[in-house]
Amino acid sequence: MTNNNDNHLLQNYRSAPITIVRGEGCYLFDDKGTRYLDMIGGIAVCALGHAHPGIAEAISKQAHTLVQSSNLFGHEPARSLANELAKRSGFDRVFFCNSGAEANEAAIKLARKFAFRKGDTKRRTILSCNGSFHGRTLGALAATPNEKYQEGFDPLPGGFRYTPFNDAAALEKAIDDTVAAFIVEPIQGESGIISATREFLEASRRLCSQHGALLIFDEIQCGMGRIGPLFAFQYFGVRPDVVTIAKALANGLPIGAMLLTERVSSGLQPGDHGTTFGGSPVPCAAGLAHLRIRDEIGLQQNVERMSEILFGELRAVAREFPDVLGDPRGAGLLAGLPVKEPHDAATLVTHARERSRVLLNKAGNNTLRFAPPLIVTEEQIVEAMKALCDAARSLSVPVAAK
Ligand SMILES: *Cc1c(COP(=O)(O)O)cnc(C)c1O
Repeated sequence: MTNNNDNHLLQNYRSAPITIVRGEGCYLFDDKGTRYLDMIGGIAVCALGHAHPGIAEAISKQAHTLVQSSNLFGHEPARSLANELAKRSGFDRVFFCNSGAEANEAAIKLARKFAFRKGDTKRRTILSCNGSFHGRTLGALAATPNEKYQEGFDPLPGGFRYTPFNDAAALEKAIDDTVAAFIVEPIQGESGIISATREFLEASRRLCSQHGALLIFDEIQCGMGRIGPLFAFQYFGVRPDVVTIAKALANGLPIGAMLLTERVSSGLQPGDHGTTFGGSPVPCAAGLAHLRIRDEIGLQQNVERMSEILFGELRAVAREFPDVLGDPRGAGLLAGLPVKEPHDAATLVTHARERSRVLLNKAGNNTLRFAPPLIVTEEQIVEAMKALCDAARSLSVPVAAK
């Protein structure tokens, strides 16, 4: 038995009072042997589910071969994964790091150094959107204009400005010749699964090109097949200069990546940026296995089919409990279901876990977030919706009683 009471972990997370010991597919098991249906997937990480044999085998094989050799030498897994990502994205260069925040740090540094190398040394500003989330390191945090994350960490790095999400007119005013880059999530994840409009992303492409700013898509949550195509920019039909990915890339191992066009890649030259573990062999081998298996099992088709079922069911549940739930938002298998005041999404999360053994998650703005493994089945979605209904019913006031 594991000890839940006396631990030395820093208390910086609000962890639920269960201890997970193993996973399999879309299920997690706690130390008492209880099985939970997982509609969170490690927060949009475990695209192929838990303990996928193909991923485990790739990790094991690589661990028995080479775990780390430093960036002083080349190695096959990083090269192959970069080639595979370039082929599938149409981007030319790939930089590997260890997390989403690090990928965004790299993109921010690239944007400034790219301008600097062109002699455009006044171009320092990084523009991002209200409601965005780009990570917890100081640079990524400075691009995340949210009091909840920023409070008490000042002074944050300078040169960051913010503009309203999905407001092309405001963006037009905000972008000038001092802006090095505009960074945007095609679908805002942490603030409650709020999608950019295609028009806004198109306008951002046009305005960045006009003013010589780089356009960076933070696809850390909505990329890697989460909304169907491998990349969110493919879903929206708008091509940025830089894409950052992380979360699902290695199906659970720590890795992040920045994809760049040849033109902007000259911004970072030997010695300009680096990291000890970035692109190390084991996560890269897992990433390669992820991409291979994705093709073999037709994952995109499953996301598209299951997305229709999930959104159909969410709309039905929302209609059944209009005093508790609002209309679902999002795309693919990234869905947000707003919970109406005075109710709290956290109450629904707890109810579903304790009564139905279904794991749901609360994101920002009192929203339930659904980001199940992309291999989820119709039966599993139906089971999760039953848990959601039971939870909503426990809060809902029957119409007759009003
Ligand atoms: C999770 C996330 C990040 C940060 O990734 P970490 O790996 O936690 O550093 C950045 N941007 C978006 C959109 C995310 O969802």
